[in-house]
Amino acid sequence: MTARILDGAKIRDQVFAELKMEIARLATEDIRPGLAAVRVGDNPASQLYVKSKIAACQQLGLARWMHTPSASVTTDHMLRLVHDLNHDDAVDGILIQLPLPSQVDTKRVLEAVDPAKDVDGLHPVSLGRLVSGRPGLVACTPAGCMEILRRNNIAIESANAVVLGRSDIVGKPMALLLMHANATVTICHSKTRNLPDVVRRAEIVVAAMGKGGYVQADWIRPGAAVIDVGTNKVTDTKEAEALLRNFPARLQKFREKGSVLVGDVHPDAVNTAGALTPVPGGVGPMTITMLMSNTVKAAKLRRGKSKIDTVQSTAGAR
Ligand code: NAP
Repeated sequence: MTARILDGAKIRDQVFAELKMEIARLATEDIRPGLAAVRVGDNPASQLYVKSKIAACQQLGLARWMHTPSASVTTDHMLRLVHDLNHDDAVDGILIQLPLPSQVDTKRVLEAVDPAKDVDGLHPVSLGRLVSGRPGLVACTPAGCMEILRRNNIAIESANAVVLGRSDIVGKPMALLLMHANATVTICHSKTRNLPDVVRRAEIVVAAMGKGGYVQADWIRPGAAVIDVGTNKVTDTKEAEALLRNFPARLQKFREKGSVLVGDVHPDAVNTAGALTPVPGGVGPMTITMLMSNTVKAAKLRRGKSKIDTVQSTAGAR
């Protein structure tokens, strides 16, 4: 069996086309959704992420602002900035790019964001709404995983789903979203016993551990849907050879470039799974897509005339 490839870029294009229509409709109400991004210091990865997010805003015609406090910024300065963004009516979404420097109280800063503008879905109010199945803004990566499953018509209701990882940003919200969609969910973590056996029972596997190629192909139940959230850069030749032994073209690219990006699931799983997100090109493109979607949704919920039509159930609706 060779798995159906669940192409995140294709779904991003579909969602962007839908968002463009929604943005045009909001323009008739004189609303232009806007995202304010806050990037502290000059961490190259953060620079790249924020640049991609701003580029996506540009592509969709959203208003956008960049704030770039220096790496020596204080918690008080960050709180003042968040306060100003909370009170700026043109700003619908506030994105605080993590990680923040160690002298900044990250939790305090994230909790200062107005929940109505919490497009990353990390505020305790957003998490509380998710737990209780009430409409709200949901963390972008798990929301993107749900879009991948739904738009590929993968049956979620009554399925056995296993989520590998229990982080606040991926594992926990993912498990809640699957549960609200009526899957039977098992959450695994570093202390889980007999992980291969637990994974073998799953019709849906979501891997979010940050361990390159850890989930072996023979752990995957034949035909299962595998959503691989992991993004791991491999630079060790032996490791790359073990992971890509059946993928000579990718191995060749690794040799030329000196690194390769792999998921948490061993690439050989493409021969056991029924459907699989590739890394890169699966979950990755969906995270920024859902940030855009959340920004438009936040604008509709906060400023739109037809608020009631726009409420999106965390239990499922797109
Ligand atoms: P995290 O905060 O480090 O959490 C990792 C989770 O995996 C923890 O709950 C940990 O368990 C669990 N874990 C670690 N080793 C395990 C093992 N051997 N068996 C079972 N569970 C194990 O990571 P994260 O932020 O959720 O991210 C996970 C991965 O997703 C990373 O590779 C990250 O780069 C990637 N990611 C990708 C995107 C994207 O847009 N594609 C977005 C976000 C994250 P404990 O709780 O017991 O420690």
